[in-house]
Amino acid sequence: MQAKLIDGKALAAQVKAEAAAEAAALKAKGVTPCLAVVLVGEDPASQVYVRGKAKDCGECGIDSRVIRLPEATTQAELLALVAELAADRAVNGILVQLPLPAHIDEKAVIDAIPPEKDVDGFSPVNVGRMQIGEPCYLPCTPAGCVRMIESTGASIDGKHAVVIGRSNIVGKPAALLLLAKNATVTICHSHTANLKELCRSADILVAAVGKAGFVTGDMVKPGAVVIDVGINRGADGKLHGDVDFAAAAEKAAFITPVPGGVGPMTRAMLMKNTVQAAALQNGLA
Ligand code: NDP
Repeated sequence: MQAKLIDGKALAAQVKAEAAAEAAALKAKGVTPCLAVVLVGEDPASQVYVRGKAKDCGECGIDSRVIRLPEATTQAELLALVAELAADRAVNGILVQLPLPAHIDEKAVIDAIPPEKDVDGFSPVNVGRMQIGEPCYLPCTPAGCVRMIESTGASIDGKHAVVIGRSNIVGKPAALLLLAKNATVTICHSHTANLKELCRSADILVAAVGKAGFVTGDMVKPGAVVIDVGINRGADGKLHGDVDFAAAAEKAAFITPVPGGVGPMTRAMLMKNTVQAAALQNGLA
């Protein structure tokens, strides 16, 4: 392996330490940041994510309120809870864990979270603000990717960044954030004709496809920075990224592992957003 590893766990610890310091400064001024996490149903992966978020809050000096609701919760009941949390001045951030059960309209729920408490950065107002470069809560996974790229010391400015995937939560915002850093950005998706060639010309390659080992070694430009967002549970029960790590690491200059890469950074960025929300809502930003 020639690539240097971008250690998501270590970088996440650094980001969480920053969030903890900011939370402590707010506490000294009488404000304790608080994140409300709402979990509907019994999805095992969601349970793990929610437990992780509560643990991160504890480590950062952020209060967490985890509200678990049964699978049979109606959309009206969930919207009523979101409205209650929206009106609660002690709650700075509201996160509704996705996916929601099929009978609930995810969009209606996300839209009900007021933009100033939307620490996931998924609401249309935050997405719009990000697009026009106004201050907003950046979506955690793409913001974590950018922070990881910057941690390498490699410049983003003027580089060709290829993002594979165009979802609203990862691919599109990752492309926008890289564009804001002056990269020349190509977004690839399932209809892209010459994907391999495009990837081969990427100085920065972000894979957010959801297919284990999708990015093969021959798709990586020598010296590239490779960010693997994918989390795929293999038949072996283990987590695999979207990138063939061993082959890509032979070519890349920097690469993120899975697990221990983008995942921990996503969680850490949520802590930053929550502290930022508390500061903004209390006129202390
Ligand atoms: P989506 O399924 O919403 O999006 C996948 C994207 O990949 C789509 O834009 C799709 O294109 C594209 N795609 C699928 N197949 C191909 C193909 N053969 N060639 C080119 N593009 C293709 O997934 P998400 O964006 O939500 O997540 C992507 C991955 O990242 C998943 O593994 C997910 O688990 C992981 N993830 C990890 C996080 C973390 O914290 N580490 C956080 C969030 C997600 P099209 O639009 O044309 O269908």
